[in-house]
Amino acid sequence: MTAFRLEARCGSARAGVVTTPHGDFRTPAFMPVGTQAAVKTLHPAEVRACGVEVVLCNAYHLALRPGVAVVERGGGLHRFMGWDGPILTDSGGYQLVSLGAVTQVDDEAAIFVSPYDGSRMRVTPEDAVGIQARLGADVLMCLDHPVAWGAGSDAVTDAAERTHSWAERCRAVHPGGGRLLFGIVQGGFDATLRRESARAIGALGFDGVAIGGLSLGEPVEVMLEMTAASVSEIPGDVPRYFMGLGTDAEMLAAIALGVDMFDCVVPTRLARNGTALTTQGSLNLRNATYREDVRPIDEHCGCAACERFSRAYLRHLFAAGEILAHRLVTIHNVTHLSRLMAAARTAIVTGSFQKENASVRGQAAPAPG
Ligand SMILES: [Zn+2]
Repeated sequence: MTAFRLEARCGSARAGVVTTPHGDFRTPAFMPVGTQAAVKTLHPAEVRACGVEVVLCNAYHLALRPGVAVVERGGGLHRFMGWDGPILTDSGGYQLVSLGAVTQVDDEAAIFVSPYDGSRMRVTPEDAVGIQARLGADVLMCLDHPVAWGAGSDAVTDAAERTHSWAERCRAVHPGGGRLLFGIVQGGFDATLRRESARAIGALGFDGVAIGGLSLGEPVEVMLEMTAASVSEIPGDVPRYFMGLGTDAEMLAAIALGVDMFDCVVPTRLARNGTALTTQGSLNLRNATYREDVRPIDEHCGCAACERFSRAYLRHLFAAGEILAHRLVTIHNVTHLSRLMAAARTAIVTGSFQKENASVRGQAAPAPG
């Protein structure tokens, strides 16, 4: 049985449902990031109330701290963090770019150096799958080797070939049991390499395919060209996941190309810095402009922050250093992205989806749930 049910298509944009051992989630889907097994500042019930159906955790960080054995003794990741819905775990591949200086890669394994205590952790592709399976993830990611924007063509080709060989090794230790294992496309910023990578990964029969190694500082036109090249060779019967994208316009453009899933740390990080995402663009709530502004963050949003609190109150909380400010704006930003995905889904189902999206942005989104 396939884990992805395609329900509607509008142009190349798709609406579907992904089935996991901890329930279904609808696509297009935005996954908030719980790097350390928590969506920062939020209780899991609040995450759910924001309209979230699936969250992302980081297996690399959790393997370092608190350690896989602690999570296992805590009853697995769902029980440990109090989230009973689907969980996708990132393998740690992305940290090979983000922590570049403290990692080493050879064909056999990646070696990470802990940012906490400097200890070295050697992770083979088989280990990466095994760690995610022990954590109890519903959707597991292969170990991949992304390269930074600006890397030379030899480095890009080597990393893509290594990613393919690691994908085969990950596929061989698929944990089964209804869990999903996703392959990851690499190929840097070369459309030919992207298509080759997508063809190689697509041929391995994964439950889903991710597009990795983008949104690393390249121009947005390059990012979308690489996305289109990747999507063109990913089989149509599996979910497609763009790793690390979380702005409205870019996600809508990727949905228009046929992408189904997203994650990003930025919306929750921005929230803690006082930046709220709205249908009219972003607001910096620390700004003095909002000192006496009694409107909610976004009049179109019915989240727990917007239904009760004003911009003036939130600005006051940031000025006073109150933690509630971080929580309320996080709730708002996550709700905003859930509504955006729900509105895109409705537009796809009704045949009116357009990436330019005035219609998607302006329309009243269905209630989360
Ligand atoms: Zn809101």
